[in-house]
Amino acid sequence: MSQLDTFRPTPGVLPTRDTIPSGYTWDLTAICQDWDEWTSNLRDLEAAIESFKALQGTLAEGPHRLLAAFRALDAMGAISYRVWYYTSLQYDQDQRDNDANARRQQVQILFARQQQTASWFNPEVLAIPIETVRRWLGADDELAVYRFAIESLFHEQEHVLDERGERLMSFAGRFNSVPNESYAALTTADMQSPSITLSTGERVTLSYGQYRALLETNRRQEDRAAAYRAFHRSYADQQNTYAALYNGVLQRDWFHARARGYATTLDAQLHGNNIPTTVVENLITATKNGVEPLRRYHRLRRRTLGLETYRLYDFFVPLVEHDARYPYDEVGEWIVESVAPLGSEYQQHVRRAFRERWIDVYENVGKRSGAYSAPVYGAHPYMLLNYNETLDAVFTLAHEMGHSMHTLLSHQAQPFVYAGYTIFVAEVPSTLNEALFLDLMLDRARSRDERVVLLQHAIDSIASTFYAQVLFADFELQAHRLVEQDRPVTADVLNSLYSGLLREYYGDVLDEEDLSRVTWARISHLFGSPYYVYQYATCFASAACLMQDIRSPAREMNADAVARYLSLLRAGGSDYPMTLLARAGVDLSRPETVRAVVDHLDTLVTRLERELQPGAVSTTM
Ligand SMILES: [Zn+2]
Repeated sequence: MSQLDTFRPTPGVLPTRDTIPSGYTWDLTAICQDWDEWTSNLRDLEAAIESFKALQGTLAEGPHRLLAAFRALDAMGAISYRVWYYTSLQYDQDQRDNDANARRQQVQILFARQQQTASWFNPEVLAIPIETVRRWLGADDELAVYRFAIESLFHEQEHVLDERGERLMSFAGRFNSVPNESYAALTTADMQSPSITLSTGERVTLSYGQYRALLETNRRQEDRAAAYRAFHRSYADQQNTYAALYNGVLQRDWFHARARGYATTLDAQLHGNNIPTTVVENLITATKNGVEPLRRYHRLRRRTLGLETYRLYDFFVPLVEHDARYPYDEVGEWIVESVAPLGSEYQQHVRRAFRERWIDVYENVGKRSGAYSAPVYGAHPYMLLNYNETLDAVFTLAHEMGHSMHTLLSHQAQPFVYAGYTIFVAEVPSTLNEALFLDLMLDRARSRDERVVLLQHAIDSIASTFYAQVLFADFELQAHRLVEQDRPVTADVLNSLYSGLLREYYGDVLDEEDLSRVTWARISHLFGSPYYVYQYATCFASAACLMQDIRSPAREMNADAVARYLSLLRAGGSDYPMTLLARAGVDLSRPETVRAVVDHLDTLVTRLERELQPGAVSTTM
């Protein structure tokens, strides 16, 4: 890039898109050259949807019919990616763009029609006796590609009811979402953000974003306490309503599990991905046995911050003041260097992402917030960032790059039907990329303060992505068990369950804070996606386990680990996630796998203790 084309955002100024040099924006021509090509793709998709109807009623005729139908579905799926992402990425880059929005809605309407016209497909496959299908799979190599897709369809079928039963279940579908919708209305539309007066006399209204920012930056404990209490007071004031809504979630889950013949709600949730319930139980037990390094970290924080009392609102203040900026133009090369342990081919892929403009870097007027990696089949992954030169932004880039490399390798190696992957493995490469990047940054850090900031960043991400999520998973498992055992669920019951868990995980590190017991009411995942959060923790454990071997100084061990890891990425969604992870050498039913996170945290906390030792000087070399 020439000197003229370089760009850095000015703090406090939100640029319009046309003032940002094109080198920092994504190039969408790999998806479609222009709207004309997009329109012709859209027409192709419409035609494919129409002609798919003709296959209805033919599948039982033989393997070639079944194969033709699977291939037609794949072809529709492949065009869908282009048609969808060409509009949705343009919409996200400036959400005021009405044309892009209209086309995006046009695609959504078409997708709904596609779903409707293809709804005969699964039942018709399942009506063929499984023995017949297996005979076809054995005799036809081309159909055999679809073996896992077909077997997992039959696996899901195990708990599908007869026609009357399914009809009854479909009636229940209309009110399934009521507890979560009520929760969403209560916490957003009907929520009054509390206001507080800070010790400086300043009056602030606490939206969630402002509340978080205050806990992360305000150095006066009394201000943090005031913010925490005002924020949690609004949940405590309505705790009986939250408890009733959560009871609605629990009862619904138990109704579904029983209606479909599962022993427990956890069994029902894990059946689709074929994950044994021992994975969740092992995760919780092994984590509870590994809380000591987490407690040591908080004791160290309490000492370093010089606090008489230490509570949940003291968890996020930085240990040192260090306001480094990370210009995007420098960071790109670091990201490439950080993945060197994964081999030169992997590095080349990462280089391509920067060179071929896969990334939309900066915030601009109208752009969607946050960050993501979009898996555009038939093109390449695209990344949306809102890069603001902070340490968080750099790690977000490393994280999204991990997702993108997973997509790239999976799309290259797998047929369309297995190109996507489940959430159960999705956060492994993103977490692993962050870990590699941290290693590089720690090596390069020029001062004690920079090392402290990096170590705190890494430790906090283990605390929030691993320990906190396991605590939530523990809570929801126990809460579901209450209804499974016909025991009452009230605000008191949920509060004492939560405060009990806080004691089990944090021990004597935390001083009592009455309002902390209502924290469960604030966790929207518990209401919106039960039994979901544990997957953040299992991904974290899988990445830590792989990193142990990748970091190994023994050459053979580490080459073997890299090979296993890359084959996991290439495997996409070609088998059940536990099987794919097992092939990569990660067994989530063993305590040792979870232990890898605990050991890693232990190492990081020991390093941080050394950096913060009295007498350790802050030097800049
Ligand atoms: Zn992610």
